[in-house]
Amino acid sequence: MAITAKHQIVIVGGGTAGITVAARLRRAGYTDVAVIEPSNDHYYQPLWTLVGGGRASAESTVRPEHSVMPKGVTWIRNAVSAFDPAANTVTCTDGETYEYDALVVAPGIQLDWNRTEGLEEAVGRNGVSSNYRFDLASRTWEFIQNTRSGSAVFMMPSGPIKCGGAPQKIAYLASDYWRKQGVLDKIDVHLVLPTPRAFGIPEIADNLDKVIAKYGIQLHTLSEVTAVDGEAKKVTVTAVGEGGTDTTLAFDMLHAVPPQSAPDWVKSSPLSTGDSNGYVEVDKFTLQHTRFPNVFSLGDVAATPNSKTGAAVRKQAPVVVANIADHLEGRPLSAHYDGYSSCPIVTSSHDMLLAEFDYDMHLTPSFPFLDPTKPHRPYWYVKKYGLPWLYWNLMLKGLV
Ligand code: FAD
Repeated sequence: MAITAKHQIVIVGGGTAGITVAARLRRAGYTDVAVIEPSNDHYYQPLWTLVGGGRASAESTVRPEHSVMPKGVTWIRNAVSAFDPAANTVTCTDGETYEYDALVVAPGIQLDWNRTEGLEEAVGRNGVSSNYRFDLASRTWEFIQNTRSGSAVFMMPSGPIKCGGAPQKIAYLASDYWRKQGVLDKIDVHLVLPTPRAFGIPEIADNLDKVIAKYGIQLHTLSEVTAVDGEAKKVTVTAVGEGGTDTTLAFDMLHAVPPQSAPDWVKSSPLSTGDSNGYVEVDKFTLQHTRFPNVFSLGDVAATPNSKTGAAVRKQAPVVVANIADHLEGRPLSAHYDGYSSCPIVTSSHDMLLAEFDYDMHLTPSFPFLDPTKPHRPYWYVKKYGLPWLYWNLMLKGLV
């Protein structure tokens, strides 16, 4: 196969992970780094929750891709469609093929709208929206404002998804808005979760139960929305597990979150784990591929059992960069990722709980003087102003 170009390090995806790694590689002195990224826009997705809750504008979450591309990095505006790790090449949808010494795989996650019956046709209309799409997050806010009585359903799919807290955060923001409008008692709010509790750490789940009770939200645990009928405005809720029974909930508004998995072209590639989610098979500590030592992966597409967030990427990126350096210079890999992730759960339009934890679900608070299991007002300002500033000015520049 004809090679279009060779770069020492090729990064697939110029999102949160790809740009952070590129910036850190430049700072570490690497001069031949290329990022393959098809999009002209770069998104700060964590703010989409606040867009949906009417607390941030959609425009504040997007910047041109060229403005975040680190100086000295080659941007290849193309979409990868295949990996040939035995030949050290990646091929793009137009047939262009790039060779590398080391590869970083970071094209993010795929939203599988069609895996929930009726969802793909329903989303965007009839009160059905999703903060998981940039173009729809503002519509969530419209639908929340238009709901003055009736029923609202907030759903979370089973399986790994990015930001596992996002499906419930918007339920709290919406309920807080309805409470302030004086209409909350006229709306049946349903939160449908596939998990046994609202959070995997019992102390945090206890406090979220209090938030849920305060708003009068009806919590459906170990349950999943398996079908959406947008025209009839109803969803089918199925108990998770063998022989689960079905119930029906009517809705005036539905916040939908689709099942998620690796992009199909990653799933079918030699880099995948080969299971139904198809993420990139890496060692969960070194982030090196388990079969192809010059391949590394991080972010949402990596098959690491951490919670998939930008916060996790912030801790993974320095590990990938240090281990690429070790690999290229023939040393044993020296850096380890401990599974750190953080889940900023907004619980009202001015409060937030900042859950930070590692692979063992041990709490690892950055601000230990604030009880990490409870919502606090200062964290709201961290979420709305602090973290976006840190993202654009420090993280994407490889400084934190
Ligand atoms: P992305 O940032 O999604 O980047 C993937 C990139 O790959 C994109 O630029 C894409 O265009 C590119 N790409 C796609 N296909 C190809 C291809 N074929 N070839 C080359 N490139 C390709 N995280 C937090 O830390 N805190 C939060 O509060 C939080 N809240 C969230 C709320 C919502 C509603 C959502 C949707 C996400 C939230 N996240 C949050 C998660 C966070 O945004 C992601 O975990 C993070 O962006 C993952 O980074 P990534 O680089 O793996 O993927």
